[in-house]
Amino acid sequence: MLSTNAPRAVPEGPLLPSTAIQQLGPALVVAPHPDDETLGCGGAIALLRKANIPVEVLVVSDGTRSHPGSRRWPAPALRKLREAETREALGVLGVESDCITFLGLPDGAVPFEMDLEAFAWAVQRCRRYLDELTIEVRAIVLPWRRDPHADHRAAWNLLYRASGGFRSFERRLEYPIWLWEQGGAQHLPQPWEVGSWRLDIAAVIERKLAAIAAHRSQTSDLIDDDPDGFRLTPETLAFFERPWECYLEAPCSLNAPH
Ligand SMILES: [Zn+2]
Repeated sequence: MLSTNAPRAVPEGPLLPSTAIQQLGPALVVAPHPDDETLGCGGAIALLRKANIPVEVLVVSDGTRSHPGSRRWPAPALRKLREAETREALGVLGVESDCITFLGLPDGAVPFEMDLEAFAWAVQRCRRYLDELTIEVRAIVLPWRRDPHADHRAAWNLLYRASGGFRSFERRLEYPIWLWEQGGAQHLPQPWEVGSWRLDIAAVIERKLAAIAAHRSQTSDLIDDDPDGFRLTPETLAFFERPWECYLEAPCSLNAPH
């Protein structure tokens, strides 16, 4: 039925109990920017860790484009700050520092194939990271492949190439970030490529909110000398403060874009 007030067409799917996440097993969470891991899947991470299931986190870009005009926080300082915030947030969610890796690719310029050299280098780095993982990762949790933010799409693509089409993972989950607010028809998931389900995270929502707040450079006035600086608005945050998280899932190695 068509309506002028139709809800956003992001499929939300059935609500699964919090224990459903345990079937995932040891997981690798990929975050395009420092904070996406918390916004998109902080609840799932907290539930996995509560069940003592290992979680590794790979943060792809350095996050230094959030406040490009700040004099007090030039790129090297901002990078350190965002890494520290990510460690703090993930600590709240139960992930130890030694399970977090920062790839340090340039924020706003995570490479795609057309950027030949940078792409080849980044794929190599991801491949080495995957080879050196000391736990048997069964599930990979990625940003949605057609998220409106190019870095999110690039991060998905890098991991796709580095892992040979996700072949070694039993499950592949994708989480929406900018899709909620900015998704156009070209970004939306299609029923033939993924299904969707929601995870009940009510049991750990306080922990997730505390982890989001730990990303102070993105949620507060901590950096106040850049009028063009990025700030997560209450409207955006509302999508990630709900007592459930949405995951899009397809069988591994199927439906990859070319
Ligand atoms: Zn992001």
